[in-house]
Amino acid sequence: MDRAYDAVAGYYGFNCEGCEDNCCKQRFYHYTLVEYYYLLEGVKKAEPELVRTILTRAKIVTETYFKELQIGEILPLMCPVNSDGRCTLYEYRPMICRLHGLPHKFLKPDGAVQEGGGCHRFELLHKAAVRLDRTVAYTELAQLEKELRAELGFKGRYKKTTAEMLMDMVEHLNLNFD
Ligand code: SF4
Repeated sequence: MDRAYDAVAGYYGFNCEGCEDNCCKQRFYHYTLVEYYYLLEGVKKAEPELVRTILTRAKIVTETYFKELQIGEILPLMCPVNSDGRCTLYEYRPMICRLHGLPHKFLKPDGAVQEGGGCHRFELLHKAAVRLDRTVAYTELAQLEKELRAELGFKGRYKKTTAEMLMDMVEHLNLNFD
């Protein structure tokens, strides 16, 4: 994913340096256990102090999300993994964090091609001439997810924000961070 992204970003000379927006404030949802377990790997390898900080923030963020959903007002809120504008678990970040920002396309199972735009900054600076093809990333992630679900016997639907994934990890790792 990162190589495919870099190739298209390189075509435009596009990067996030100096951007005043931060896409880590968007409420992204993640749909696979693969991404959960990969993020968990990052948490397991992180310094305990960082883990404590991230999990403390995740608790606040999930509580805020819950309140906002109840009143129907969704406001930008920084992902708990982000510190000083940077992802502290960058190597382990979920798929959308890797692919967001560039105009993209993907081939749907019915053969139709779906296209999507770039982020606000990209749209200000460039016209979409070349698109990041997400087809391989989606297909390979779906295959990994299928294998993992078969191994775990998991049949449910998965849809979580990063903050919610982190709160699940508290239980998973039996952590006490209060
Ligand atoms: S996981 Fe990292 S890249 Fe993704 S939204 Fe959070 S801080 Fe940003």
